[in-house]
Amino acid sequence: MFPRISRRALTWVLAPAAALLLPALLPAAPAEAARTAAVTPAAVTPAAMAPAAVTAATAACPAAGFVSQHFHSGHNGVDIANAVGTPIHAVGDGEVTISGYDNTGYGQWIRVLHPDGRISEYGHMSRRDVSVGDRVVAGQQIALMGSEGQSTGPHLHLRIWSDRSTSYGIDPEVHLAERGVVLPCTPGAVQQPRPPVYPAESGRVVSARSADGRLELFAAGARGIHHAWQQRANGDWSEWEPLGGPGNAELAIAPNADGRLELFALNGNTFEHRWQLSPSGGWSGWENFGGGGRDTAAGVNADGRIEVYASGPAGLFHRYQVAPNGGWSGWESTGGGPADSRVELGKAPDGRLEAFALNGTTFQHRYQTAPNGGWSAWAGFGEGGHDLTVDHNADGRLEVFASGPVGVFHKYQTGKSSWSGWEPMGGPAGSQLTSERTPDGRVEVFAMNGTTALHIWQTAVNAPYSEWAPFGTGGTEVVAATNADGRIEVFGTSHAGTFHKWQTGFATWSEWLWLNNSAGPAVD
Ligand SMILES: [Zn+2]
Repeated sequence: MFPRISRRALTWVLAPAAALLLPALLPAAPAEAARTAAVTPAAVTPAAMAPAAVTAATAACPAAGFVSQHFHSGHNGVDIANAVGTPIHAVGDGEVTISGYDNTGYGQWIRVLHPDGRISEYGHMSRRDVSVGDRVVAGQQIALMGSEGQSTGPHLHLRIWSDRSTSYGIDPEVHLAERGVVLPCTPGAVQQPRPPVYPAESGRVVSARSADGRLELFAAGARGIHHAWQQRANGDWSEWEPLGGPGNAELAIAPNADGRLELFALNGNTFEHRWQLSPSGGWSGWENFGGGGRDTAAGVNADGRIEVYASGPAGLFHRYQVAPNGGWSGWESTGGGPADSRVELGKAPDGRLEAFALNGTTFQHRYQTAPNGGWSAWAGFGEGGHDLTVDHNADGRLEVFASGPVGVFHKYQTGKSSWSGWEPMGGPAGSQLTSERTPDGRVEVFAMNGTTALHIWQTAVNAPYSEWAPFGTGGTEVVAATNADGRIEVFGTSHAGTFHKWQTGFATWSEWLWLNNSAGPAVD
């Protein structure tokens, strides 16, 4: 899947490197936008850049067999057991740095250094097929399974190091799962794209992946919604297509249980929705979904039913599918909640939806008391603010970010129903927020106000955050999505149009560019 998890690159980003100060192309003024469009070379498109950057993204199944021992504090690796002679494959591209005999436990063993700095080790083999200095590619057979060294039966001991400086490895099953390989696995099998994490962020611009892995993008302009889509997974973008619908809308998007995306668009006067007619297929026309309101968010219940929240002067209401892919309930009051609030949904590891609603003076949340089940009352969550985003850590704990006049704050679950206090993170004042998980499970947050865009990321899974780093100039709204290959792509809007910027590697980004050299809708 995603190859270049470069700890060196991360270190490089954490240092104030001049090269990081990329030209900030998201314009705050039409003149700037015109200049940007004029200097965008046709060759610098996702089609030209992204595939080249991700061709080595494949991770491979190390060996067929069953997991006879998982990674834990007393077992620095994972054991895959099978018959003597079972082929063993490199888990990624790399260079063989050790191929020999170790008399302390491994017996015959191989070490491979990968381009991202990670190291894989293979032990107990009956035969080695590669030598020091050999270049290997993901999936290449490098040895045959054996039971040499400290071993009670034929198996592969696979160990993964994040780099050479650590004293203990990382969980190989996590490392592989992040790259689309789930043990037990079949060598040579095609890996499936990473499933999107829902609920997706709502806002003036939303993005979600179609069932076939292509990102779809909707941006809300004054005269309705505009739609663009990747023409293939991880690939280049279509022209913008105007869809009509409510002007200056707030948008939410969610997949039906059968994979068909459904889009919700709300402004002060009207609420409409439309949906894909088949997975990855064309779209229906607009149909009425309710009256006007302030903001909306959509999530997916554990059983696949879409649930929609909407805020207005009387608080929050919700409406849900009565069966997967099926009809809708009426609008039901949630019993209050902050008036005219911004609302987002999160999803607990057990599938329970949780709603977060923020206005200028108060922040409240409520949550399902069981998967697909009833909801708690609204409870205080914090002070008022400007915008919010919800994500979850690699270990499943929800984390909420909120912006206000003095920057960004975050608050995170410390247990199933316990939360930390609000902790200040600095960052831009009064910003729009979005967050997304990196391919290795770290939360990354993007904040944009009228003059600047910054981003910040966990320095390890479930860990504290980096310093804020430049991400461009200002805009009106920002949303992040994840490509099928795991690369984050960020979409920003301004008075001049809609832009995107995408990961070209673990810590490297493209510039801000128009989609398909076309400005698309202005979003005020
Ligand atoms: Zn072992």
